[in-house]
Amino acid sequence: MTPQKTIIIGAGIGGIASAIRMKNKGHKVIVFEASDKAGGKLNEFKENGFRFDMGPSLFTMPQYIEELFKQSNKHISNYFEYQKHEKSCNYFFNDGTFLSLYSDVEKSMQEVKKILNIDPKPFKKRVENSKYIYEKTNNIFLHKSLHKLSTYLSKGILRSIVSIPKLSIFSTLHKSNESKLNHPKLVQIFDRYATYNGSNPYKAPGILNIIPHLENGYGTFFPKKGMYSIVTSLVQLAIDLGVEFKYNAPVGQIKFEKRKATGIMSNGEFYDADFIISNSDIKKTYDHLIKHKTFEVKSPSSSAIIFYWGISKKFKQLDLHNIFFAEDYKSEFENIFNNKGVAYSDPTIYINISSKCNSKDAPNDSENWFVMINTSWNKGQDWNQYREESKKFILKKLSVILKEDIGKLIVTEQYLDPIKIESNTSSHGGSLYGSSSNSKTSAFLRHSNFSKYKNLFHVGGSVHPGGGIPLCLLSAKIVSENIK
Ligand SMILES: Cc1cc2nc3c(=O)[nH]c(=O)nc-3n(C[C@H](O)[C@H](O)[C@H](O)COP(=O)(O)OP(=O)(O)OC[C@H]3O[C@@H](n4cnc5c(N)ncnc54)[C@H](O)[C@@H]3O)c2cc1C
Repeated sequence: MTPQKTIIIGAGIGGIASAIRMKNKGHKVIVFEASDKAGGKLNEFKENGFRFDMGPSLFTMPQYIEELFKQSNKHISNYFEYQKHEKSCNYFFNDGTFLSLYSDVEKSMQEVKKILNIDPKPFKKRVENSKYIYEKTNNIFLHKSLHKLSTYLSKGILRSIVSIPKLSIFSTLHKSNESKLNHPKLVQIFDRYATYNGSNPYKAPGILNIIPHLENGYGTFFPKKGMYSIVTSLVQLAIDLGVEFKYNAPVGQIKFEKRKATGIMSNGEFYDADFIISNSDIKKTYDHLIKHKTFEVKSPSSSAIIFYWGISKKFKQLDLHNIFFAEDYKSEFENIFNNKGVAYSDPTIYINISSKCNSKDAPNDSENWFVMINTSWNKGQDWNQYREESKKFILKKLSVILKEDIGKLIVTEQYLDPIKIESNTSSHGGSLYGSSSNSKTSAFLRHSNFSKYKNLFHVGGSVHPGGGIPLCLLSAKIVSENIK
């Protein structure tokens, strides 16, 4: 019997994971990627002896990568190696406070007590609440289609409904954190988790307190050869299984017969398929590939300006992950999610330095800095002006805190902004995580993994269950389970 044929549009992490899962179901699988290499937002570049991971830097839930190797009957160690971090993040505040948190909650509690001089039990309780929310909801919100009646008829959802008060669905993440934590700096730290899916803690529901569990409960990890090795190892696995990748192969249109998807057009040629899985941004899929339809994204997630700096010095006080908080955190989010594009005078800065783990990522006595500030998605703002002004503020702030003229240490520089993110990966307005979670119902407003068109499915950060590597991997699982 000839195998069924699946075409995947896009080699982002969701597309690659879908390719592996569909191949393991016995399908013939072809991936069409518009650019010349796989990865989408999870990408890399090399310059002047430095290697930079361009997108994600925080790697959580490696079990979903492990699962792909296990179901393919391959040893992960032949493809991919990663390690767990003892320290999850360094936090710098404008008043000079410096706090580190760890994967080990007891160790973090000692640090909270020592540095903030407070009872660390509320911190522990908040971490435990995060675990509780995760355990109550992950099976329903993350592992299943929210758009199928059968999900709501399961025992799990009934159990979750009973625990609704503890899930903090009806307060904002900020209010929930403020009422449970005993120090404003801890509130700021726990509010920041909203940015992990591009949302505003002053608007997003308290149920987003699920996110800290990924970091504090499961821990943070780092692939030994850098974040991009997630892509290269999964692409190698897919190729070994027999998946075909076509690069420089943009899909221009999905073809239909009545309401059934039958194939795609790429570089002027028609390719037929039994199933089509689009890993392209959902709005782009509707506006450009289905054409006569459009999909409205009610509240896109945040985007970012990122500087990739080669720094000619090593900084002892910095680790892999570092946050330099803004003084006025609330107005920063107002700027990002309202009219302005960035927090102007004092942005929160995230710095990831992968050469702390992999010395090959920078020449001797140097570091590769990934310096990111959150911004709005692109609504036509003047990003050149924002970028230049932001750079000034970032350098000023870092130079004061690190007591060093950072501008003088930059030996190589590249950048991304919302416009470049959109042109590199087709994400709507350059938003990093599809739609934001800035309302109680936002989880239900994401597009489903299936479509009203027969045989057309959707995978990746702009659809259910959401953005970020683990959720994109789970969307691939949901899609493959929906294809019978
Ligand atoms: C700066 C930044 C920082 C981030 N930080 C983190 C982090 O720390 N941790 C984390 O987990 N996540 C993070 N993320 C989010 C994470 O990168 C994304 O959620 C995830 O990589 C998205 O994967 P995806 O499957 O949606 O595909 P995408 O990465 O969106 O890729 C889609 C692919 O489809 C291709 N494509 C689109 N249209 C077509 C077409 N018509 N024809 C052919 N090909 C097409 C594109 O070229 C692209 O390669 C970050 C993202 C960015 C940009």
